[in-house]
Amino acid sequence: GLVLGIESSCDETAVALVDTDRVIHAQRIASQDDKHAPYGGVVPEIAARAHAERLAPMIEAVLAENGTKLADCDAIAATAGPGLIGGVMVGLVSAKALAMASDVPLLAINHLEGHALSPRLADPELDFPYMLLLVSGGHCQILSVEGVGEYRRLATTIDDALGEAFDKSAKILGLGYPGGPAVERLAKEGDPQAVPLPRPLMGSKEPHFSFAGLKSAVLRAHESGEHNDADIAASFQQAAIDCLIDRLEHAMKRAPDKPALVVAGGVAANQQVRAALENLAGSRGMRFVAPPLALCTDNAAMIAWAGCERLALGQFDPLDIAARPRWPLDPDAEPVRGAGV
Ligand code: ATP
Ligand code: MG
Ligand code: FE
Repeated sequence: GLVLGIESSCDETAVALVDTDRVIHAQRIASQDDKHAPYGGVVPEIAARAHAERLAPMIEAVLAENGTKLADCDAIAATAGPGLIGGVMVGLVSAKALAMASDVPLLAINHLEGHALSPRLADPELDFPYMLLLVSGGHCQILSVEGVGEYRRLATTIDDALGEAFDKSAKILGLGYPGGPAVERLAKEGDPQAVPLPRPLMGSKEPHFSFAGLKSAVLRAHESGEHNDADIAASFQQAAIDCLIDRLEHAMKRAPDKPALVVAGGVAANQQVRAALENLAGSRGMRFVAPPLALCTDNAAMIAWAGCERLALGQFDPLDIAARPRWPLDPDAEPVRGAGV
């Protein structure tokens, strides 16, 4: 089965053509980093406009590159949330129009499900269930992934997401936007033990994450003038990793016997994070699975792949389905204080 995927929930416009046999036939990603960099973060109106300008020609280019007609696709999968609602609507409405015009079924994909299933696109051996650390710009969660559409949340952040903490720390250190890769680069030159930073909620009986206090401590360390920026970056990254490992160990006690530890989302592109997780998985006799870097940050191949998983189950969506700014993967999860879902 061939699925056209469309992603437009944040600041990457992306289109991909993916097969249920895990072949990515063609894909395009247009980053808007240059448009948002002057503001130090994503401006929703600028993002929506850029998606609207870029999407149609990108869809044409991806289809043309593979010599595929729309009517040859078995489904059109588009991100329907969560995300910046203007951008989500641009992608979803385009997908609906194409689905209607070419009589191809529509798949309205949860962006987080795209991240959550992306490791299965790269690794045919990864079966359900697995323990997933989903670390992105808007989310920091531990999930038990038990099947397509079956996600049980074990932990979430009570304030900032980890990608957000990377981005805010980058801003404090004057590294620009997007911050994650810049912090990782600078951290290579620093001493991860040099700056004493807090590890919020580490050792807590509560299952969740918290990163707002860590970011504030980065601000204080920077303003004190006592430390160089590379040491602050390295110490921040180490503190964040210590929190991830501690919270995962906590989750493993509550949900033991998962055969694999899996990481997904933009922060999964971080080599130090990957190394620490691989180490943890090894010590627990678990397989460690991380998608290639290009599948970690936002892309359309993961949306098309989530579409492939749903296509295989015959789970299509009606053309009047609505875009959703908030859309938790586990609707049964207890609400927590703060911004996390
Ligand atoms: P969400 O998926 O929660 O809706 P999003 O789509 O904006 O949010 P992603 O594209 O998955 O998030 O990830 C982007 C985030 O990943 C940014 O916060 C970015 O700083 C972070 N990130 C990207 N590369 C790295 C890296 N090498 N190290 C740390 N963080 C990184
Ligand atoms: Mg981005
Ligand atoms: Fe994302």
